[in-house]
Amino acid sequence: MDVPVLKITLGTGFASTGSLESKIALASRRKVDLLTKMPYRVCKTIDIESGHMLSKHPGKCKFPHGHTRKVEFVLEAEHLNRNEMVCDFLVVKELIGDYLEALDHAICVNTVDPAYPELRARYGDRIISFENEDPTTEVMARVIFQTFAKRLIGLLCEAG
Ligand SMILES: [Zn+2]
Repeated sequence: MDVPVLKITLGTGFASTGSLESKIALASRRKVDLLTKMPYRVCKTIDIESGHMLSKHPGKCKFPHGHTRKVEFVLEAEHLNRNEMVCDFLVVKELIGDYLEALDHAICVNTVDPAYPELRARYGDRIISFENEDPTTEVMARVIFQTFAKRLIGLLCEAG
């Protein structure tokens, strides 16, 4: 069973300068902020098996290899929606599920890697192209984030 992780964070840190009275006033104000402005943060994790080749890496990472990746979608809101949620995890799956499915059991390859043309010809869409950049974990995270953000914005625009 998939158990969602809910993280609730409370800001702390009352460092300030000034008189004792102003420090007490500031602390008191922040205490009120803590009680009234608690952000809600939820995290949906989706696991994928993902291969890649890093053509610029001097060591073994330039050869085909894979990772079990945990893709975490962290969403935060100051207020809950009408269903008392930050975001239904079903929406996360609907927005990004197909994209992650394409990455699952596929190999991400830089288009300038000398092996790219042969791999693409042999394995077709199981080779995920990264235009002139190595598909490092960081680059993959950026692409997933941008894809998700674009789709989420589209959904929010549709909803008005
Ligand atoms: Zn790797």
